[in-house]
Amino acid sequence: LSTLKIAIGAMELTKKCVRDVMTDIDDVFMLSEDRVLNAETMTRISDSGYTRIPVYEGNNRNKVKNLLYVSDLALIGKDNNITVKAVARFNKRRLRIVDETMPLTALMDEFKMGDYHLAMVAKATDVKKHHHGKFVDDTMDSFIMKSMKLVEATMLPHDASEEHPITLVGLVTLEDITEELLQSEITDE
Ligand code: ADP
Repeated sequence: LSTLKIAIGAMELTKKCVRDVMTDIDDVFMLSEDRVLNAETMTRISDSGYTRIPVYEGNNRNKVKNLLYVSDLALIGKDNNITVKAVARFNKRRLRIVDETMPLTALMDEFKMGDYHLAMVAKATDVKKHHHGKFVDDTMDSFIMKSMKLVEATMLPHDASEEHPITLVGLVTLEDITEELLQSEITDE
């Protein structure tokens, strides 16, 4: 990979938003928080191959409340009938929700901060309903300010999402961004 091609890929990224690279919500492997972590569930989880699993309330896949890390399951005996809810609430993994129109460069800045490398993606109009809709401005120079703004903008308190349900449209990870970078490089051939 030549440096020039990587640079071109990086430039391509600046034109794209989260929606362009996310995994569609229908393809996201999630678990209900009511699910019991028995042998069958453990097998499903390990067969999925994913390391982080969104956890939703009841049978509403739109109400993702927690994240389960596969590593959180290391010490769980599969005969104890522990629920996903118990493990997810105990470990309290940070769940982030971003707007589908968020520029990839802005999400990359957030990922670079290292706090988390996965976010759920909400339909644009829904996030705006919460008056959190002000996303980014690519040219804003202060990286910290930008990140702080995004933190504010994307933290949807659970109670608020109760009143104005948001619609989840996907999931995005750092991997999706890096893959996009390499893809741009390939189509450039
Ligand atoms: P992992 O570390 O679990 O393999 P990555 O961050 O490497 O996840 O992402 C690889 C791809 O899998 C990305 O396209 C990402 O959007 C997708 N992905 C990650 N977690 C899930 C999940 N729980 N369900 C569906 N797709 C997922």
